Amino acid sequence: MRRISLFGATGSVGQSAIDLIARAPDDYDVVALTGGHNLEQLAHDARRLRADLAVTCYPDRYEELKALLADTDIEVAAGPDAVVAAATCPVDWALSAIVGSAGLVPGLTALAHGTTLALANKESLVTAGPLLMRTARQYGATILPVDSEHSAVFQALVGEDMAAVERVIITASGGAFRDWPLDKLATATLAEASSHPNWDMGQRITIDSASMFNKGMELIETKEFFQVPVGMIEVLIHRESLIHAMVGFNDGALMAHVGPPDMRHAIGYALHWPVRTQLPVERLDLAAIGALTFEAPDLARYPALAIATRVMQDGGLSGAIFNAAKERALDGFINGEIGFLDMARVVEAVLDKMSSDDGLQSATITLDNILQTDALARIRAGEIISQLG
Ligand code: NAD
Ligand code: MG
Repeated sequence: MRRISLFGATGSVGQSAIDLIARAPDDYDVVALTGGHNLEQLAHDARRLRADLAVTCYPDRYEELKALLADTDIEVAAGPDAVVAAATCPVDWALSAIVGSAGLVPGLTALAHGTTLALANKESLVTAGPLLMRTARQYGATILPVDSEHSAVFQALVGEDMAAVERVIITASGGAFRDWPLDKLATATLAEASSHPNWDMGQRITIDSASMFNKGMELIETKEFFQVPVGMIEVLIHRESLIHAMVGFNDGALMAHVGPPDMRHAIGYALHWPVRTQLPVERLDLAAIGALTFEAPDLARYPALAIATRVMQDGGLSGAIFNAAKERALDGFINGEIGFLDMARVVEAVLDKMSSDDGLQSATITLDNILQTDALARIRAGEIISQLG
């Protein structure tokens, strides 16, 4: 029996993981499950998976969660510190599927305990890639990518020599607005941005897919995780979302990973790694699909890609600035403070301001200065949002 914990168990990725785990409950000893507001889901899963510990990140919901699990011996805890404490429980494998930079400290803590970390929380690599990779090395922990593109690259690299890699291509569906006239984008509503043509995901990543901030984050994630130079990483628009990534080698070969848009593939690959096993995902009928299409991304439609490229080139703490400003701008769009196109304006303005004013680019990357930078970037983004509003 493998001991496992799931961080962000109640979210879209967390629930896909639970779907896999619940099919073979005898294979897993579930230690901790963490969630947020959806206490019913958290309690239901803790009960059926016989978890030792259930944690909500909201301290004021402790009593409610406690009441939901009163007739069990499942331990209950609440608050951000309790989420981090759950990451100190010894396990063999943990899923990092919290959304946003709130996933950083729990992920780092799991790595510092030598845990194999299946990483869906891309924000932690964007914010603190060097720190995360350094921590994994220091404690002999393994990080397995769960973002579909990065899982695809990881799989294409099995048995390969990184020195033979020439290019890494991550694909993008183009998101909700890929066919919208450019002049209509400014008026895009929250509801319109919250539906994805191919993937069923949490609301924040769905909106980030419409703006292509998601792909921008994935560029940075590629650089940090696979340690490849910026110039080797490409984005390709591929509407069908069936090829998730390709790796190009120095003999001209491109190894493509093809599969249905179902996160249970990437999660299942990480769950069973290093072996492959049966997964309940659709088998593609390529003859019925007929054709796969590819286009170069239109940089005027997707300013987030150019911003992310700048962040990759700048390095240092610019990833932390970028991620925090993006998270605050996304809150601003969700709350109706700013329009869809303003999100990129806010992120760019925060990067401009903080790289010149605060001289943060050259600082060494420690958890303290990342958290300070994250907090400051959110304040700066809030100031810019109120100027725009
Ligand atoms: P989601 O919004 O559906 O779920 C987020 C989870 O995090 C929930 O369990 C929620 O309770 C928890 N959470 C929210 N705020 C928290 C906080 N402050 N502290 C602790 N826990 C908190 O999100 P999702 O779509 O499942 O995405 C999770 C992560 O995986 C994100 O980083 C996302 O970018 C990444 N990802 C998601 C998909 C996908 O298909 N959904 C694909 C690739 C990568
Ligand atoms: Mg992805």
